[in-house]
Amino acid sequence: MSTISHDELEAIRDSVRALCEQFPGAYWRDLDAKREYPTAFVKALTDAGFLGALIPEEYGGSGLGLRAACAILQEIHKNGCNAGAAHAQMYTMGTVLKHGSPAQKKDLLPKVASGEIRLQAFGVTEPTSGTDTLQLNTTAVKQGDHYVVNGQKIWISRAEHSDYMVLLARTTPKDQVKKKGEGLSVFLLDMREAKNNGMTIRPIRTMMNHATTEIFFDNVKVPAANLIGEEGKGFKYILDGMNAERTLIAAECLGDAEWFINKAVAYANDRKVFGRPIGQNQGIQFPIARAYAQFKAASLIVQSSADKFDAGEKNAEEANMGKMLASEASWAAAEICVQVHGGFAFAEEFDVERKFRETRLYQVAPISTNLILSYLAEHVLGLPRSF
Ligand SMILES: Cc1cc2nc3c(=O)[nH]c(=O)nc-3n(C[C@H](O)[C@H](O)[C@H](O)COP(=O)(O)OP(=O)(O)OC[C@H]3O[C@@H](n4cnc5c(N)ncnc54)[C@H](O)[C@@H]3O)c2cc1C
Repeated sequence: MSTISHDELEAIRDSVRALCEQFPGAYWRDLDAKREYPTAFVKALTDAGFLGALIPEEYGGSGLGLRAACAILQEIHKNGCNAGAAHAQMYTMGTVLKHGSPAQKKDLLPKVASGEIRLQAFGVTEPTSGTDTLQLNTTAVKQGDHYVVNGQKIWISRAEHSDYMVLLARTTPKDQVKKKGEGLSVFLLDMREAKNNGMTIRPIRTMMNHATTEIFFDNVKVPAANLIGEEGKGFKYILDGMNAERTLIAAECLGDAEWFINKAVAYANDRKVFGRPIGQNQGIQFPIARAYAQFKAASLIVQSSADKFDAGEKNAEEANMGKMLASEASWAAAEICVQVHGGFAFAEEFDVERKFRETRLYQVAPISTNLILSYLAEHVLGLPRSF
């Protein structure tokens, strides 16, 4: 993939910013209060072609690469919007692109690129296994020309707004696999079909406006042709896609950090107490400056993760570190933004409390900080395995 120039990235940021101007704080506040999906915002992103950034041109996408996709998501968050309702349309297709058959790619990817098909549900997490994905219990049992799926998933975001789900299920019982990482398979589940045939979606109301759900599968049939890649290799396929996901979410954190920092600086310059701007006090200045330094440092790692991905190099170390550092930078910026605003931070019309709730998620999902540290300790530094 060709590297993208600074000017091209700036042009992308300019057009994302122009789009975001149509969706000011009031739009998000209204949806937040009602816990409603930002349909108009997602449509605007789709129509502008931003969600097809990672899909190669031969399949109707723009083939811009991860660096550009990160710029899109960062700019969305920097401008006070939230890409969580749509970001998975960018990357969930990665499993099909990398491991799908030529027919699956030809059939699906152009429709995902145009937005005709929404492939933005990713079914991995289960209530009993949590982060320990290899313990998941949802089964897919082959019967003739189809598989029968039974089990339960939790925290499956955008399921009510998706036509397909990339589903991870067990095809070989745990006690019959040769290697720990085998026995799980990935399927393209047609959710429109499944909804009337054994799949139940139950929304979960969360502390921020995030369309997440739990899903129950009761003898749901999936055609064998919808298996992605080889049976039993699903865990590896899912891991392959996670580095792109982590880098993109890190970019959203960077955008949040910029939003909080800009908002804190503006307020600190403006608000006068004891006869001078509160920003004149070093007790106000220093935490903002520290959050800015954290944001800049995290940006470099996230950028390096995206560049390595676009160059076809391994980026797991940078993807994990970038996600952790960016989520910590956004949280540090959120924390000082609240403090700087004093009582007004708690008023909904300032948007600070909403963004504060939104950005907290990223230290837990899509991967929690402890699990990133565990990856770095054991896989990068060579410390003994703890699990
Ligand atoms: C809003 C939201 C949206 C989500 N969307 C999706 C989605 O679309 N698809 C999907 O599949 N999943 C989704 N998730 C799930 C998300 O990926 C998990 O919540 C996350 O990975 C943490 O897993 P868990 O909740 O099961 O926590 P657990 O695995 O139960 O862990 C709980 C805590 O214990 C810590 N912990 C666990 N084991 C260890 C250990 N060995 N050492 C140290 N600490 C440990 C973890 O770091 C964590 O902080 C979403 C979650 C949320 C909240």
